[in-house]
Amino acid sequence: MQTKAVEDYLKTIYEIQSQQGKVATTVLAERMDVASASVTGMVKKLADMHLVVYERYQGVTLTEAGEKIALEVIRHHRLVELYLAEALGVPWDQVHDEAEKWEHVLSEDLEDRMDAALGHPTIDPHGAPIPTRDGFVDAIPRLRLIELSPGQAAVIAEVSDHDSDMLSQLGELGLYPATEILVLTRTAAGITLRSKGEEHLVGSETATHVYVRDVSD
Ligand SMILES: [Zn+2]
Repeated sequence: MQTKAVEDYLKTIYEIQSQQGKVATTVLAERMDVASASVTGMVKKLADMHLVVYERYQGVTLTEAGEKIALEVIRHHRLVELYLAEALGVPWDQVHDEAEKWEHVLSEDLEDRMDAALGHPTIDPHGAPIPTRDGFVDAIPRLRLIELSPGQAAVIAEVSDHDSDMLSQLGELGLYPATEILVLTRTAAGITLRSKGEEHLVGSETATHVYVRDVSD
């Protein structure tokens, strides 16, 4: 049975896999905020369902079937976030928590209607790509803001959706996806940048969760 827990695990495994390549059960436990023992139990269950392959020293890998479910849930999540933001005016720092619930219950019919109402969008309010219905995801090469040097120009591509306080701070500075920035200084405190004629300091922690496209050359 494809329960909410199964979907959450597959989605999180997919996310770690695309960020780090390998998925260690310890990292999965940390992300899911549960004890290692319960992760191991769940991973074995997912392996029995042929949704993941688990090898002690290799970690967890999604099977084709597992990846299909993960992408479907992610598609729901990101479409719902965009629908809430665009159609209902929900602030971008609040849509994630709502989407965490909706992603599990959205019917295929409603998914298609949201997709059509939004004009078949390709990115969510945080700049993350929305997988197509067939499970295709546009993987755009990006850097973390923290990796940029003074003098580098970039465009904000994506911001992590997991921390609503960080999102509301970035929103107050107007640092949304598609915003152009120029890095002025990089210190231990963070990155000072210019955007729309204003200077802002983005703290180091936040700057590791903001992804950009380098447009210097
Ligand atoms: Zn989200």
